[in-house]
Amino acid sequence: MASPMFEHEITRAAVLFQKARYAVALTGAGISTPSGIPDFRNRDTGLWEHVDPVEVASIYGFRRNPQAFFDWIRPLAGLLRSAEPNPAHHALAQMEAKGHLKALITQNIDMLHTRAGSRMVYEVHGHLRTATCIACSANYPTESFIESFIEGGAIPRCAACGGILKPDVILYGEQLSAAVLHAAVRAARECDLMLVAGSSLTVAPASELPMLAAMNGAGIIIVNDDTTYIDSRASVAIHADVAEILPRIAAELEVK
Ligand code: ZN
Repeated sequence: MASPMFEHEITRAAVLFQKARYAVALTGAGISTPSGIPDFRNRDTGLWEHVDPVEVASIYGFRRNPQAFFDWIRPLAGLLRSAEPNPAHHALAQMEAKGHLKALITQNIDMLHTRAGSRMVYEVHGHLRTATCIACSANYPTESFIESFIEGGAIPRCAACGGILKPDVILYGEQLSAAVLHAAVRAARECDLMLVAGSSLTVAPASELPMLAAMNGAGIIIVNDDTTYIDSRASVAIHADVAEILPRIAAELEVK
């Protein structure tokens, strides 16, 4: 049985979604931790033991020492491959399917939103669906090499020119995709409701989108373990597990 905690806040959130003309969601690492994926910017997860993130997961580090990058990302790639979308991902997909959510902006590279069925997804930090040759820019589905990479650890290479394949994730020191960022900024500007789920809003520029939305008059709903800088401007702020709260909001919308 669902806990009665936050009942009032959940009802209020559902009412805001019902009234909204254009609601968008912004998600971060916290929405995937219930799927067993560590926040890869969090120093406490073990992913950064013995490695310097700027050295390993930056575009400079990648070009200088690709092996170190691939050694670092290999356990994470294995985790991502076995991870499944959790009830929070499914709730957002359901809300979109029912017309309560127009778009989803995510900082995650794990593709769990699209796997859960979300369709209008802006992945501002890129994704692991494809990889691009750093020599000739040929693009490959990750599917074509991920199995042998996870098992053997060999650096994936371009079938055409032998160049190294870089996953299409945004590394430190790399520009975000202008097209994706513009779409996300446009959604933040045009929305009249923004749900922030599983993000503590510490990584720019995604962290700035709720402020942009609020300045344009949008209501803000926060569902996150920790507080965020924009809590004081939020109509609803629930500090709890996204995998518990989002399905309850989606369920409340169903019965209304
Ligand atoms: Zn190539």
